Amino acid sequence: MQPSTSSVINETFAAAVSRNPEEPEFHQALSEVLESIEPVIAQHPEYVEAGILERLVEPERQVLFRVPWVDDSGAIRVNRGFRVQFNSALGPYKGGLRFHPTVNLSIMKFLGFEQTFKNALTGQGIGGAKGGSDFDPHRRSDAEIMRFCQSFMTELARHIGADTDVPAGDIGVGGREIGYLFGQYRRITNRHESGVLTGKGIGWGGAQVRTEATGYGAVFFLEEMLSVRRDSVEGKTAIVSGSGNVAIYAIEKLQQLGAKPITASDSSGFIVDEAGIDLELLKDLKEAGRERISAYAARRPSARFVGSGRVWEVPGQLAIPAATQNELGSDDAAALVRGGVLAVAEGANMPSTPDAVEVFQQAGVLFAPGKAANAGGVATSALEMAQNAARERWSFEDSERRLQAIMCDIHAASFAAAERYGHPGDYVVGANAAGFVRVADAMLAQGLV
Ligand code: GLU
Repeated sequence: MQPSTSSVINETFAAAVSRNPEEPEFHQALSEVLESIEPVIAQHPEYVEAGILERLVEPERQVLFRVPWVDDSGAIRVNRGFRVQFNSALGPYKGGLRFHPTVNLSIMKFLGFEQTFKNALTGQGIGGAKGGSDFDPHRRSDAEIMRFCQSFMTELARHIGADTDVPAGDIGVGGREIGYLFGQYRRITNRHESGVLTGKGIGWGGAQVRTEATGYGAVFFLEEMLSVRRDSVEGKTAIVSGSGNVAIYAIEKLQQLGAKPITASDSSGFIVDEAGIDLELLKDLKEAGRERISAYAARRPSARFVGSGRVWEVPGQLAIPAATQNELGSDDAAALVRGGVLAVAEGANMPSTPDAVEVFQQAGVLFAPGKAANAGGVATSALEMAQNAARERWSFEDSERRLQAIMCDIHAASFAAAERYGHPGDYVVGANAAGFVRVADAMLAQGLV
């Protein structure tokens, strides 16, 4: 007799947990995905026979390395570097690099695992990976950042390539860091291999709209979800967390579409601006100045800074958590529901805890998980790879149109998969199922590798 679907899922999860002890973020991502693909497994016994689940939860390759560098005082420092190459069934490994003191193997694996399904959803032929370091870029000089990036790339270079693995940015890695990383790769390999990294400067192989893509894409996804209910973002108040690349360009697109974002945050607290966020001021402080978010309130009479409290207590109809994982718990979700939230799109990766997702779904709130809602960033990275390979440069308008079309496709695929597997309107099941089927079919066709 065939083992039941739920016992196959439970056994896969239990084996992965015991093989990867003390990795709570990875376990959280595993359980979310495995639980929601149960109806898919029930319809596809061939996946179980081919061992797809056991293979999928184990990264194809994990690289851990030493990153020695010298700080401005001349002292030697050592950080740890990571690259988890999770799955390449659909294309070269693809995913960002995160520089943050919390980075560890659990966080790298959770992000690489999620990335695999996210990248599958984009339909752009890219596998999943993630990397980074526990290096803290905060308050480091430009020269220190450069030396760190050079040392990091000196080891990473041997593991990547335009057809092998294509890193990009994530938290703590933006245009400046990608520049230093690319320079060192070029020097080591003697190859101007544009397609080895994405998020490059526009003047040397970068793509239009890559900087804006994650934030814009999340808002396009919100618009798609609302349109199913014959509604739109226009005229709605939006609660946004974070003040990095994703938050800033989500705010920009919300404003362009007639919504009113009123919050932003960083690790020191958040600001509420009832008059609507002054985007130029926010960009000035955060993109150019690298200042704390309280500086915004100091410069703008309509805004207040809140140092201790929850941004999710501020009422609004739309919410975009765009800071980091597990930033929004069940109490926060309940507060948003009380404040009248209609739709939530995750700009960050896994910002909502599983309990919070349940609160939203019970309350009938439209909820888009990060792997669908924030896939615009990596999708536009794939557009950058395409332009690099073809030695072409596409216009801003053309690139934005392609991004919007990809977000519509991701929405449609997630929506259809949710229906097909018996959970209509559930974008968590829909996104996981749609992404999983694409990866699983490719693995099945390619044999036991
Ligand atoms: N770090 C982004 C993400 O989480 C983008 C990755 C990329 O462009 O490769 O999807």
